[in-house]
Amino acid sequence: MKTVCAKDMCAGCMACINMCKKSAITIVDDYKTYNAVIDEVKCVNCGLCEKICPNVKCVEQVNPIFWKEGWALNPEIRSNASSGGIASSIIYSFIKNGGYVASCMLNKGEFVFELTNSTQRAEQFVGSKYVKSNPKTIYIDIERKLQEGKKVLFVGLPCQVAALKNFSRNQDNLYTVDLICHGSPSPELLKMYLKEKSVDIEELEGLNFREKTSFGLRSVGKNNGFPRIVDMYTYAFLKSIDYTENCYSCRYASQSRVSDISLGDSWGSELSEEEKKKGISLVLCQTKKGEELLKKSNVELFDADITRAIQLNHQLEYPSRIPSSRMFFFENLEKGFDFAMKKILPKEYLKNEIKIILSKVGIRR
Ligand SMILES: Cc1cc2nc3c(=O)[nH]c(=O)nc-3n(C[C@H](O)[C@H](O)[C@H](O)COP(=O)(O)OP(=O)(O)OC[C@H]3O[C@@H](n4cnc5c(N)ncnc54)[C@H](O)[C@@H]3O)c2cc1C
Ligand code: SF4
Ligand code: SF4
Ligand code: SF4
Repeated sequence: MKTVCAKDMCAGCMACINMCKKSAITIVDDYKTYNAVIDEVKCVNCGLCEKICPNVKCVEQVNPIFWKEGWALNPEIRSNASSGGIASSIIYSFIKNGGYVASCMLNKGEFVFELTNSTQRAEQFVGSKYVKSNPKTIYIDIERKLQEGKKVLFVGLPCQVAALKNFSRNQDNLYTVDLICHGSPSPELLKMYLKEKSVDIEELEGLNFREKTSFGLRSVGKNNGFPRIVDMYTYAFLKSIDYTENCYSCRYASQSRVSDISLGDSWGSELSEEEKKKGISLVLCQTKKGEELLKKSNVELFDADITRAIQLNHQLEYPSRIPSSRMFFFENLEKGFDFAMKKILPKEYLKNEIKIILSKVGIRR
């Protein structure tokens, strides 16, 4: 099997698929790893896929000019967002100022990227999706807009930003925001987990992964609804059990960053408890473009304690470590997601079941 980057190390950024004129690449997702497999009959060995792969060609990373923490000044934007709503604020201001934004939203059961200059459409971007998103043809779409002389903002995971930077020829009008990322699982795992709970992801209007510090899946809208519960999907995500293999050696898990701005949660904040409940984002600004984005956005920022921020966000120094339970999880996955989690973490599984029962009888949600 010939692959674009090293075997089992593909991040699923899809840039090579956008680049290959011969349609010779297929992404194979086996739950545990992604691989970009080359059809050697179609391939003409032009080498372009390797040139833009963020695993083969590492993108320049720069240290932040400043570290801040803060939130969106519009209370509705802050409240709808996962953290402090800084990403959403930047997105809305960018569109208001005539630009296009590319980010990730749920569409027919898939978390895919879309490019838009409609504020209403951009509302679908809000919230962290704790799953590997699919950029589809976004690099080609962005390149076209940049060639038309439009300004484009990309908000995504660091590996996706790196892919875009390798792909784009003219970056003068390109602005980028990445999320501080400790890893992401295959969307097939999310589908499998929901199916076991009798939920068809394709029927969901929306899927919420957290509400501020309360993590757990909850459906948005009326179809096939379920309330937020502390679930084993989220547990596996938070404990770094089920990411695709490449995430454990992510070359973008560092203080120096690929984007104009990097956003995360300001877990170590010493601001008031009231503000923490409403959500506080950590903001790293690397470039003049980043400063421009923040200046034009309706946000409130304070100096952040860098040492604390790094202490509580290990992926600013090194990638997530592989827990010993990961191997057993995947060994047992054939019998189902819930089965695998019960097998590797019986106590946690039992606690979770009790919480679900209590939530059903209305004692606790
Ligand atoms: C997989 C993943 C892992 C993360 N790990 C950490 C972590 O370890 N530490 C930490 O501090 N923060 C982490 N974050 C970031 C955090 O969850 C928030 O997204 C971030 O703080 C921005 O919050 P906000 O309120 O400003 O975003 P919002 O205003 O809610 O907007 C979120 C933006 O991020 C985009 N987005 C959400 N999910 C994805 C995705 N899967 N792929 C591409 N784009 C996406 C949305 O489309 C939207 O534009 C992670 C996010 C993701 C998606
Ligand atoms: S080398 Fe060229 S033709 Fe072959 S898979 Fe890569 S981009 Fe496609
Ligand atoms: S990391 Fe991206 S560019 Fe590299 S092989 Fe995987 S999908 Fe292709
Ligand atoms: S950990 Fe790295 S490779 Fe994995 S999704 Fe995050 S940025 Fe991409």
